[in-house]
Amino acid sequence: MDKPDTTPPPNFIRYIVEEDNRTGKFGGRVITRFPPEPNGYLHIGHAKSICLNFGLAADFGGHCNFRFDDTNPSKEEVEYVESIQADVRWLGFDWGERLYYASDYFEQLYGWAVQLIKDGKAFVCELSPDEIRDYRGTLTEPGRESPWRNRPVEENLDLFERMRAGEFPDGSLTLRAKIDMAAPNINLRDPVMYRIKHDPHHRTGDAWCLYPMYDWAHGQCDSIEGITHSLCTMEYEDHRALYDWYLDQLGLYHPQQIEFARLNLSHTVLSKRRLIQLVQEERVNGWDDPRMPTLAGMRRRGYPPAAIRSFCDRIGVGKRENLVDMALLEYCVREDLNRWAPRVMAVLRPLKVVIENFPEGRVEYLEAVNNPEDPGAGTRPIPFTREIYIEREDFLEDPPKKFYRLAPGREVRLRYAFFLKCHEVIKDPATGEVVELRGTYDPETRGGSAPDGRQVKATLHWVSATLALPAAVRLYDRLFTVPHPSSEAGDFKQYINPHSLEVIDPAWVEPSLAGAAPGSHFQFERLGYFCVDPDSTADRPVFNRTVTLRDAWAKVQQSEKKGKGS
Ligand code: ATP
Ligand code: MG
Repeated sequence: MDKPDTTPPPNFIRYIVEEDNRTGKFGGRVITRFPPEPNGYLHIGHAKSICLNFGLAADFGGHCNFRFDDTNPSKEEVEYVESIQADVRWLGFDWGERLYYASDYFEQLYGWAVQLIKDGKAFVCELSPDEIRDYRGTLTEPGRESPWRNRPVEENLDLFERMRAGEFPDGSLTLRAKIDMAAPNINLRDPVMYRIKHDPHHRTGDAWCLYPMYDWAHGQCDSIEGITHSLCTMEYEDHRALYDWYLDQLGLYHPQQIEFARLNLSHTVLSKRRLIQLVQEERVNGWDDPRMPTLAGMRRRGYPPAAIRSFCDRIGVGKRENLVDMALLEYCVREDLNRWAPRVMAVLRPLKVVIENFPEGRVEYLEAVNNPEDPGAGTRPIPFTREIYIEREDFLEDPPKKFYRLAPGREVRLRYAFFLKCHEVIKDPATGEVVELRGTYDPETRGGSAPDGRQVKATLHWVSATLALPAAVRLYDRLFTVPHPSSEAGDFKQYINPHSLEVIDPAWVEPSLAGAAPGSHFQFERLGYFCVDPDSTADRPVFNRTVTLRDAWAKVQQSEKKGKGS
């Protein structure tokens, strides 16, 4: 397989929309919605839904509504309402004036429930939650009818009104639709429409103690907003019959629900219920920890929104669930950053080199290219001094055959600078550890080539040991050690990678990075892409490693190819 194409592939939902436009089913309108529940931060799975809903509407000249599905006051918070909007905006989508809340429709939904009661299609039930479950039956056995199912309409209306007035405690009464306890689809076995919860709501305060169930709220909200295509994940496939039933009984405008497969990403979990545990049990440092698959975490990690959008295009939209390799997301991040992130030099694990023929105290400025992918990005001066740092792993005293980097007696190129030759290794007498190298540079090789045409086999990055800035660098690895933690036996948290964060402090970065703004991106040559963390202070920048330079996606594809061939 070649590298993924960049144009979004057509998908079955597009075909449905095209067909609807051809037949005039919705008069050519395409109105979608993104309906998050404000009970956690958005994750990359939500990004798939956002890109799909906003993208589809834009491509067909329609629009996408933003609607908070805020029907469960006990789990919802204003913090989430705010973070969700910020994240969608950051991802690059604009809902204009079309911000809605399911809670804005509570009165209308209540009115429709009264209508169903009057029509003999809903009843107040006194079974407890456990009894309701008991009566429901199983996939192979029909359910039993509630003893309260045939209450007279007047009694239902009276009780329902008193439920709203707050006369009954939580869990005592429910309003249920009267459909069919023998329906093969369990969702149609007299589903609960309202439950009592004496919980204050973040928007309606204590105006209500009666809250609608998702199924009762969702289709009607879609209808009120004139949604045409209501896209949701496959778990709701069996709920579609109920979605349709409510709208048909009420005789309302009827949007079309269409289900697609949710995104599963390897080495992480995509469920707010699980993510919230990681945050509350302090397994990570908050919702925006750069190891989290949340949009807030990815932003802090340095994933550009364009890379996430491109990832969502590439994974496509289908009906079958699969596990997408994290390497594909990283490939998209790398591809985007490669185009525009400026290159700089930093040394994470320093080894000092003293250049004996370079005068003490002298600083020579060399010209470094800001981005070889973008000639317009220009150059910057970098200081060269008698003492420099190179990466510890770029030197071996006793190099094996294929190691071409620095070794005693060997010459290498210092990026954007000179050839350097090592002739002495200084060790800690107690431990034998190499603590310093001594060498000479060839002033004739300024800029990186020798006038006599002699070649070197390696180019090393480096910084001036006297002028480099100390910085803290955070290196991240997979948050989980297994590809699909939530499908493993036992608690998913036992698969957390204990080495998912390594902090290097100090690392050394070139002086041009002084004052780099939080959120700005750089490629540290040979090391990866890094993003300035908001924890940075004036005298100590903090960098998050966004992604390494290695393309693990190419490897995944190679092994897939091999797997297919055998
Ligand atoms: P979670 O399982 O993480 O709690 P949810 O479906 O309960 O997710 P919502 O806030 O209700 O979260 O989701 C808003 C929208 O995002 C829904 O339309 C939902 O189908 C979609 N969505 C959620 N998770 C994914 C995913 N992994 N892939 C694609 N779409 C998703
Ligand atoms: Mg949900």
